[in-house]
Amino acid sequence: MHKCFIVAVAALLASPAWSNTLVSNVNGLQVGADGKLQRFSALLIGDDGKVLNTFTSLEEVRVNASRGIDGGGRTLLPGLIDGHGHIMALGQSVLNLNLVGTSSVEDLQSRLRTYAASNADRRWIVGFGWNQESWAKKAYPTAADLDAVVKDRPVVLERVDGHATVVNSVALKAAGITAATKDPVGGKIERDVRGNPTGLLIDAATALVGSKVPAPTQADLAKALNKAQDALLSVGVTAAADMGTSPADWTAMQNAAQIDRLNIRIMSYAAGVDSLQKIAPSGQWLYTDHLRMGGVKLYADGALGSRGAWLKQPYADKHDTRGLQFLTDAQLREQAGKAAAGGFQVAVHAIGDAANAQVLSAYEELSRKHGNARRWRIEHFQIADPVDIKRLPPAGIIASMQPTHQTSDRLMAEARLGPNRLGGAYAWQSVLKSGARLAFGSDFPVESPNPFPGLSAAVSRQDMNGQPPGGWLPAEKLSFEQALNGFTRGAAYAGFAETKIGALEPGKWADFILVDRDVSSVDPQALARTQVLETWVAGKKVWERASSAAGRAERGK
Ligand SMILES: [Zn+2]
Repeated sequence: MHKCFIVAVAALLASPAWSNTLVSNVNGLQVGADGKLQRFSALLIGDDGKVLNTFTSLEEVRVNASRGIDGGGRTLLPGLIDGHGHIMALGQSVLNLNLVGTSSVEDLQSRLRTYAASNADRRWIVGFGWNQESWAKKAYPTAADLDAVVKDRPVVLERVDGHATVVNSVALKAAGITAATKDPVGGKIERDVRGNPTGLLIDAATALVGSKVPAPTQADLAKALNKAQDALLSVGVTAAADMGTSPADWTAMQNAAQIDRLNIRIMSYAAGVDSLQKIAPSGQWLYTDHLRMGGVKLYADGALGSRGAWLKQPYADKHDTRGLQFLTDAQLREQAGKAAAGGFQVAVHAIGDAANAQVLSAYEELSRKHGNARRWRIEHFQIADPVDIKRLPPAGIIASMQPTHQTSDRLMAEARLGPNRLGGAYAWQSVLKSGARLAFGSDFPVESPNPFPGLSAAVSRQDMNGQPPGGWLPAEKLSFEQALNGFTRGAAYAGFAETKIGALEPGKWADFILVDRDVSSVDPQALARTQVLETWVAGKKVWERASSAAGRAERGK
C-alpha cells in the first residue's frame, strides 16, 4: 500500500526534489481564517518542517515529495494549543503524590501511606489534587488526618484548585504556624473552636508553608519538564501557554531547548513582575519557535471552590464574605502598567465578577495609553457580570477560558452563587457574541491536560458522562468549529503565535496530530474519549501511541 502510493505520487512529479513529505489519505480538519470548518485529504510539508500546502484531493497534488506517508484514512488535526496551563506543576504532579480522584479522606490516607513508603528519601512529601467536594463526607481534611499516617516529616497536600492546602503537624511546626499566628492578607488559617490551626490553609496562607518546601533543583525541573511534555504530547497538545513561569523554570526550559529536548512550544508568562524583570526576556521566539516569554501573569483573586473568588455580592452559601481581593486598583495598575510599558503582554487571573470588573477597568485604562492591540488577557473570566462581557472587545481584551472548569464546577458554582447570578458564568457563547476573542485551555494540572474533554464540554455543556441532560446553561454551548477554534487559532492568537501555529497553512509549522475518530461528527461523549494516535511537531513524529505502532506493524506483515 505504502509503496504503491509513492509510485502514484511520483508519477505526478515533474522533477523530484526529494525533500518534501506528503501526508495523504487523511480526513484533515481545521478551522479556517473565516471560522468555518475546512476539510483536506493531504498535507505537504517542506524540509524545514513548515507547511507548504494542504490539498482536498490527490489530483490537486502537483508537487515534489520525496516521502509519502499514508494516513490510513485517519483524522488529522492541527496540533492543539492549551492557552492556559502550568507546565512544571503538571510535571511535578506526575512526580509528586497524586491525589486526583480520591474518593474519601481514607482514600487520601491510603495513597499517602503508599507514597511515603516508596519515597523514603523525600524529606518533604508534597501532594496535589484532593477535592473534598467529590467525597461523600464533604468535610475538609485536617492535620490530624495526615498525622495518623505520617509523623516523621512534613506533608503538604494541595487542593485540586491550588487555592487551599492541608498540612500535617510537622509542617505546621516547620512553618511556625500556631494559634497566635495572624491570617495573612489575602489568606486564611482555618481554626478549630479553640482557635488552634486545623491544618487547612487558604490562598495566601498556603505560602506560609509553601515557602518552607525546599525549591526543586534544576535536575528536578528537567525531570518535571520531560514528564509534562510526555503528558501533553500524548493528548495532542503541541503548544501551551505556561501561566506563571519562574526564573528557575525558564532556565530549565532553555536548558532543555539547548540540548534539543524541547518538543512542545511554550508561550511563557512570568510569575509576577519581579520574575519578568529577573528573566529580562527579549520577547522573541527562541529555539526555532519553541520558546517565548511574552508577558506577565498576575492574580486578581482566588478560586470559587475555596470562596476566594472576589464577588460583587456576598456568597450565596456564606453571607459574610465576598471572597478575596488580591490587589488594590493601584497595585494592579502599577504591576500591569510596568509590564505593558516594557512592551509585554499582561494576563490576569480573574474568577469572580468583582475581580473581572476590576481587571476590565485596568485594561480599559491601559488601552487608552497603549492602544487596543496589546491583547490583554483575562485568565478564566469564569463569573462575569453579564453587563461586563461587552467591555471585552473595545479594549481588545481576550477571554482565556477553560471549558472543563465548567463541567467540574457546575454544582459548586450553583451553591456559591445561587440560581440568579449565573447569567455570565462560563459564558463562552456570550463572549463570542460580544465580538471578543476566546482562547481555550485546560488549566492543567488543575484539570486534565487532555483537550478532548474540553472540546466536548464546549459543545455540550455536559461532563464525560453526559450530565446534566441537555447541558448546563445550554445557551452558552459552542459549535464544534467555535470550540476547535478556541483550542487552535484562538489560543495561538492569545499568545501572539497565530503566524506560526494554530492552523496548517503555508508558512506555519507542520504541528499536527492523528486521532482515532472523526471528531467533527461523533457525539460529545465520544468526542471526549478521542484518543491521539500520533503527534507531530515541525514535520517530525515526536509521540506515538504504543498500540498504534504495534497495530501498524501488524498490518504491515
Ligand atoms: Zn491556572
